[in-house]
Amino acid sequence: MSNSSNTLAEAHALDRADPLSPLRDRFLLPDGLIYFDGHSLGPLPRLALINQREVVEDQWGRQLIGGWNDAGWIDAPQRVGAKIAELIGAKPHEVIVADSTSVNLFKLIVAASRLSSRGTLLTETDNFHTDRYIASGAAEITGLKLRMVPRAEIQDSLDPDTSLLLLTHVHYGTAERYDMAAVTKAAQEAGALTIWDLCHSTGAVPLQLNRDGVELAVGCGYKYLNGGPGAPSFVYVAEHLQDRLLSPLRGWMGHAAPFDFTTDYVPAPGIDRFLAGTPPILSLAALESAIDTFDGVSMQAVWEKSIALFDLFDRLMAERCPDLVCISPREPSQRGSHIAFRHPNAFEICQALIDQGVIGDFRAPDVIRFGLTPLYLRFEDVWTAVERCAEIADSRSWDQPRFSARRKVT
Ligand SMILES: *Cc1c(COP(=O)(O)O)cnc(C)c1O
Repeated sequence: MSNSSNTLAEAHALDRADPLSPLRDRFLLPDGLIYFDGHSLGPLPRLALINQREVVEDQWGRQLIGGWNDAGWIDAPQRVGAKIAELIGAKPHEVIVADSTSVNLFKLIVAASRLSSRGTLLTETDNFHTDRYIASGAAEITGLKLRMVPRAEIQDSLDPDTSLLLLTHVHYGTAERYDMAAVTKAAQEAGALTIWDLCHSTGAVPLQLNRDGVELAVGCGYKYLNGGPGAPSFVYVAEHLQDRLLSPLRGWMGHAAPFDFTTDYVPAPGIDRFLAGTPPILSLAALESAIDTFDGVSMQAVWEKSIALFDLFDRLMAERCPDLVCISPREPSQRGSHIAFRHPNAFEICQALIDQGVIGDFRAPDVIRFGLTPLYLRFEDVWTAVERCAEIADSRSWDQPRFSARRKVT
């Protein structure tokens, strides 16, 4: 037997032994497509399709304005927040769903900056760009000085002027993961609050926000939570801070009594004050179904399969595609749930793979990423992706003009 057929047999054996394999049926995945892009946009959960029809036809269509009370729309941000809380180790009333991650970052940075008279907002030079952009705008408004330092220097850069530390838990490019408990503690000891961006962590790695002493966080609905394109984001504020923080976006939905139409703003108690405007009910319904798709699944089991998918991917790539260099940490506790490779022609290789039905994505300047999403990926998919990648790399079939055309979204 050739080595390829040996490794295929091994992948099949891993699939047969996989306790999560039945979960794949909870998603609608197009035939013939292998989807390694769940870290950018999760696929469609079957429940979301069924529920969306009901929300549109029965609730919006027939209940109209009555849906706010009768169909429970008005409580959706809290209800869905409580379901997310369960996945991230938080209390149900510590999480609320609203707006986008970018907007929620702005709300938390401005709100938290008012708790101290210190002058610096510290973040990582290579943090995700929206986080840095939002931080620069929020810094301008609050009068904070934005200080950006390389990842390795973060802890040593905490000083008596650090008001806030803003970090993304799992790095979008390399998948490197911070030690959440240790960094939060170091910042607390230096007298600073930490805001964690959990976009690449929620639904991907086991999280215990309460246990790890996390005080402030935001996260994404459309990546590993599979809530649909542009799904709303969530805000987490630890119970003890909730009544000390005020959102700078004082919309009526965050008011203590939105339907009293009072002249002055009175913040709602607790996490509710982080709402601004009217919640997007169709998007919230899709996100809720997506989170219900995790029912009965432990994040520990999801994470264990992610590790096994990574190990197989890494090993097969080293054998078959040695020119693509893995840049993700091999130690599981130091990474999230994707695997990234560097190659000077990563863009073209990614396009050639997409042409072959293997969907990964490219991040400038030279990184190709594959999301490892245990709810619907099979070990056989890893094997197929690596085989196709080897064919493309060995034959240089990526070297064609049609694979170098860049579109608006990469
Ligand atoms: C995906 C992602 C975002 C997305 O922000 P939006 O406001 O939803 O566009 C923000 N931060 C990080 C780290 C991300 O990975």
